[in-house]
Amino acid sequence: MAIAEDLEVASFLKQQPKKLFIGGRWVESASGKTFETIDPSSGQVLAKVAEGDVEDIDRAVAAARKAHESGVWRELPPAERAKMLWKVGDLIEERAQEFAQLDSLDNGKPINEMLLFDVPMSAATFRYYAGWATKLDGATQQTSFPGKYLSYTLREPVGVVGQIIPWNFPLMMAAWKVAPALACGNTVVLKPSEETPLSALLLAEIMQEAEIPDGVFNVVPGFGETAGARLAAHPDVDKIAFTGSTEVGKLIAKAAADSNLKRVSLELGGKSPNIVFSDANLRRATSSAFLGNFYNQGQMCSAGSRLFVQNDVYDKTLDELTKIVEQTRLGPGIDPMTQMGPLVSRKQMERVLGYISVGTKEGARLVAGGKKPEGLDSGFFVTPTVFADVDGKMRIAQEEIFGPVLAAIPFSSEEDLIAKANDTMYGLVAGVWTNDVKRAHRVAHALKAGAVYVNCYNVLDPATPWGGFKQSGWGRELGAYALDLYTEVKNVIVDIG
Ligand code: ADP
Repeated sequence: MAIAEDLEVASFLKQQPKKLFIGGRWVESASGKTFETIDPSSGQVLAKVAEGDVEDIDRAVAAARKAHESGVWRELPPAERAKMLWKVGDLIEERAQEFAQLDSLDNGKPINEMLLFDVPMSAATFRYYAGWATKLDGATQQTSFPGKYLSYTLREPVGVVGQIIPWNFPLMMAAWKVAPALACGNTVVLKPSEETPLSALLLAEIMQEAEIPDGVFNVVPGFGETAGARLAAHPDVDKIAFTGSTEVGKLIAKAAADSNLKRVSLELGGKSPNIVFSDANLRRATSSAFLGNFYNQGQMCSAGSRLFVQNDVYDKTLDELTKIVEQTRLGPGIDPMTQMGPLVSRKQMERVLGYISVGTKEGARLVAGGKKPEGLDSGFFVTPTVFADVDGKMRIAQEEIFGPVLAAIPFSSEEDLIAKANDTMYGLVAGVWTNDVKRAHRVAHALKAGAVYVNCYNVLDPATPWGGFKQSGWGRELGAYALDLYTEVKNVIVDIG
């Protein structure tokens, strides 16, 4: 594919094939193989990338182990670690255009979303965890015999951390995982998704510029079944962190159990309820319901893909929502006028179109979208789609579609709502729209979800925890909670009597 010369990222893209980043060096894959990453707005090849496999993961883990044991990172004064991580945040911001263009081309997402959200959030995440590097305190425990035994705790890095990330927010998912792991003194092997491997490689350039020591941060692009599976099963990896589908999350947990019982954290799928009571500010609820589900082409684990609307405002809300949906401008993500880009891949597009036909067959009422848009034939586009009168038992109300499809479900009372909203195997997030303060808290407490948004939706901040109940995952990322994922607690007991 011809790379537009006026793009800031042009010079990065010109150096092809892209290499793996292991032990502070850019290297080819052991097999010499490469794979292609595709621009989903055109279906054309964007870049060739060295294909990491078992041997490459082994090399990267060995480099990360060497760096860990040498103490070059974990024994560095915490303020030095903090300074470097802060610098990573600065450099992400400095190269915002490059990151924005890269993920926009590789994933398809609108470039304005990258510039307004993914890039600043990624920089902020590095800065937030830079702050934690100097605050990894333990505690003293009052023992049963205080004059005899002194107990205090230390937080130590877990060691070598494997991190497998998805394609929906390529840079941001890397930042969420890498920043806390490094702040806590671990070394990292990152495997980006085969769909979007490029921004992780640009991040590696930045790590070099920030003078993060060799071997502390390694990137091995490759496929899930090969490179990813090896990382999850590797006997010398101390912890694996994964974001992706629940199906693959189960494989990761199994691989960890079958190998060295490495620590596991999982951020998996969702089928989140966004709930509108009739006393809510309907204008705000409706525009937020749109963004809450269709942002990033709906490719979000936290998508509010089940919109519950109380009977008396159901028709009105649906009409308003349909109007917004129908006005959405589709196009290549790299075009600043685009409001919705293509889906990440042909496979994803076919999966989403498949679910749309399932919804129709199940008897849901299609009120908007549901097809490929005209004039954008070569890309993987699907028009934003709304199904009305969905029954909670339908597949489109139970299964994660991971695309621009919304299921609107009417409800009568609060009791009726709670049962319906919790009737899923997932429990990632939920939204509640109401002006009744008591109801807001009551419903927030009754919902089984890792985050409940009241009169807002998908508000993300590096300081607030992120993760799910039920089959949406294990553990909490972000905030102080992520420190538990990336440290081991050691209890030291001293006889002082
Ligand atoms: P999606 O289906 O949305 O692409 P996945 O859960 O399959 O999401 O992928 C998320 C990440 O998991 C990607 O980096 C992918 O390469 C990786 N992956 C996929 N299958 C496996 C596997 N069997 N073992 C380890 N990693 C995997």
